[in-house]
Amino acid sequence: MRQHVIDQLGREGLAHAWTTEVCERAGYKCEYCDKDMLASMDNFLSWKLDHIIPEAAGGDRTLENMALSCRECKVQFKGSWNPVYVAGEDASREELIFAVREDVKEKRSSWFHRLSRYREIVGWEESESNREDD
Ligand SMILES: [Zn+2]
Repeated sequence: MRQHVIDQLGREGLAHAWTTEVCERAGYKCEYCDKDMLASMDNFLSWKLDHIIPEAAGGDRTLENMALSCRECKVQFKGSWNPVYVAGEDASREELIFAVREDVKEKRSSWFHRLSRYREIVGWEESESNREDD
């Protein structure tokens, strides 16, 4: 954890120390899909903190239970899903994150098939202006 980064972001009113600690640990990447949260304005705007074990399931707002997440992973894919169901009650933070990553990967794949079929039906074709790397 880089204390000078935490201090500087705090001094400039850009982020609270606690939030920066979560992000520093994550390397400013979504912990569920590895999206670089600083790589574009859209990524930066989709920046969220997520309770790994959801609040509804008793997950608390501790550093241990918080993860840096992009909006898609938090809202579209993970939601209130509790990784304890897969990883077990005694799972470590790393094991819980791994369970979420696997679940997100599966859901992304399912959505990608849906997108591909949608594109086929509407006759969508890739052009320079809408190219993206999936
Ligand atoms: Zn993500």
